[in-house]
Amino acid sequence: MSEVEAQRQKEIQQAEELLFAGPQALGFAKGLFHGHFVADWVMPYPRVPAAQQTELDKTLAEVRQFLDEHLDPVAIDRQADIPRAVIDGLGRVGVLGTTAPVEFGGRGFMQMANCQVLEEIGSRCASTSVFVNAHHSIGIRALLLFGTHEQKQKWLPKLVTGEQLGAFALTEKEAGSDAANVQMQARPSPDGSHFILNGEKRYITNAAIAHVLTVMARTPVPDSDKTAITAFLVTPDMPGFTILEARMPKMGIRGTATGRFALRDVKVPKENILGPPGKGLKIALTVLDFGRTTFGACCTGAAKTCLRLAVEHANTRKQFNKTLGEFHLVKKKIARIAADAYAMEAMTTITASLIDRGLEDYMIETAMLKVFTTERLWEAINEAFQIYGGSAYFVDLPLERMVRDARINQIGEGSNEVLTSFIALVGMRGPGMEFKEIYDAMLKPSRGLGKAWTAGMHRLGAAVRIPDVPVRSAELRSFANQLGRLIWRFNIAVNRALIAYREPILDLQLVQERIAGAAMDLFASTCVLSRWDAELQFARRNGDSAPQTNHAADLFLRQSFRRIRRFLSDLSENEDKALLATANSALGKVS
Ligand SMILES: Cc1cc2nc3c(=O)[nH]c(=O)nc-3n(C[C@H](O)[C@H](O)[C@H](O)COP(=O)(O)OP(=O)(O)OC[C@H]3O[C@@H](n4cnc5c(N)ncnc54)[C@H](O)[C@@H]3O)c2cc1C
Repeated sequence: MSEVEAQRQKEIQQAEELLFAGPQALGFAKGLFHGHFVADWVMPYPRVPAAQQTELDKTLAEVRQFLDEHLDPVAIDRQADIPRAVIDGLGRVGVLGTTAPVEFGGRGFMQMANCQVLEEIGSRCASTSVFVNAHHSIGIRALLLFGTHEQKQKWLPKLVTGEQLGAFALTEKEAGSDAANVQMQARPSPDGSHFILNGEKRYITNAAIAHVLTVMARTPVPDSDKTAITAFLVTPDMPGFTILEARMPKMGIRGTATGRFALRDVKVPKENILGPPGKGLKIALTVLDFGRTTFGACCTGAAKTCLRLAVEHANTRKQFNKTLGEFHLVKKKIARIAADAYAMEAMTTITASLIDRGLEDYMIETAMLKVFTTERLWEAINEAFQIYGGSAYFVDLPLERMVRDARINQIGEGSNEVLTSFIALVGMRGPGMEFKEIYDAMLKPSRGLGKAWTAGMHRLGAAVRIPDVPVRSAELRSFANQLGRLIWRFNIAVNRALIAYREPILDLQLVQERIAGAAMDLFASTCVLSRWDAELQFARRNGDSAPQTNHAADLFLRQSFRRIRRFLSDLSENEDKALLATANSALGKVS
């Protein structure tokens, strides 16, 4: 077997183990790839239950007051530090343990409520929102999800108040995008009482200020020569824990402490293992699902800030004897930011609700949320920056900081390229397996022809039926019908791609990008339609017989549908060959 083939087999085996353990309810994104509209997960638009909403409103009011009085994003950026007093204050208003159970001192909020808190922080200061995410969304997440009662009792109370801080340490020199390639070793001691950890981690947020780090390291698989990743709780007071660099100087989110550390023969008690030994990669990816959801919330908050800043300037700055907002090319930018911010909020809320409602596998949705919101925010900041002209370039306005801060979003917690490929491949896996079944049965008709027939009919059924998108408001029926038709076209495109390319599609990232792009816009449109429908229904219930048009939602759907059509038509009409030839020539490779 060639090296490339061996690597491919390893990746497939890892993916199988990680992603597809047993039968699961069909989620929304997987449904899309089958040509279905799984309405139950997305309609009606989810709401925080009334009982928790009261508590959430109180918390949000406290958080806003605290941030108004104590958070200075400019000082945090200039001094490249979040003052301890701010961290303590965040702990006092509950932000550092929002989703932790009440019995351990947390607020016990659901993910939807947590996202509203993060949106508020993200609208003001990216350093602070990334710090909170590193501590709460990912740092203590494995403990919350996979910790035993004893582990939670021991560690959580101090972590949820901020007396102690958490960090999540996966990345290493050899394990960046290729997260499965962790090299840090954890060797069991002869008496089995502890593990001895050796290796280095880099780019770890909070590394040097954390009291507890969730560290991913490679452990031997019993009775085999293989190794697997295991999650450990490591504390900096363990002998051999060495901070190599506490605060790596950096371009943006400068208030966060991004560090490097080494573990040299660090003895970690076996009681500090989180979750099942050898299941660390699955644990890490589950943790990152939560991180990607709050990423969406923070980006939504920042996009709303862009909108506010852009509107303020466009309404006051005059050139050619007109305010900038009178020019259509400026209106275009403002409209786009407004439409995207509306969609980002809707998508964040629905994705968070999937976690709250117990959908088992929401990896595609969180990946779509992460890619969509980080790309849209980058665009929004760029547009707002342009509206401010030269003034945006100077440090007395927040936009230059926002540009620097936002750039990490497309790279961290899974680079957007890796996630784009992931969305397409994991999404296509379901229909791909059905095709394989049909194909295998055709080769060996005596075995499983009935099954192949069922699968074939299933695929055919999806191909001829346009799914129903059940909106309740009559004025949205036309959009709903268009969305249904696009899902139908998307499914045909997926089937065609699978038939045309078969296994080599695993390497065809330009095809994957279009399929993922269409899927993301289908999901975003669904979220927008669901939210708009709920608003119209709410207005009706309150006696408003002809509620006003929601212009942002209307524009988003029109633009999103156009993008979907474009993605699908580009699958057959494109210049991929020329593109690859140009890149190969620049890279010095033979085409
Ligand atoms: C400020 C900051 C904070 C961070 N905080 C943490 C933390 O708290 N904990 C933690 O564990 N990690 C953290 N990270 C690490 C972060 O998650 C990684 O930087 C990220 O996963 C990318 O890895 P890499 O930097 O090694 O890039 P690489 O893996 O070298 O990738 C570089 C680029 O190559 C491209 N690429 C890579 N693979 C593919 C592919 N398969 N297909 C197409 N294109 C590809 C992408 O464009 C990617 O951006 C942080 C990083 C930064 C900069």
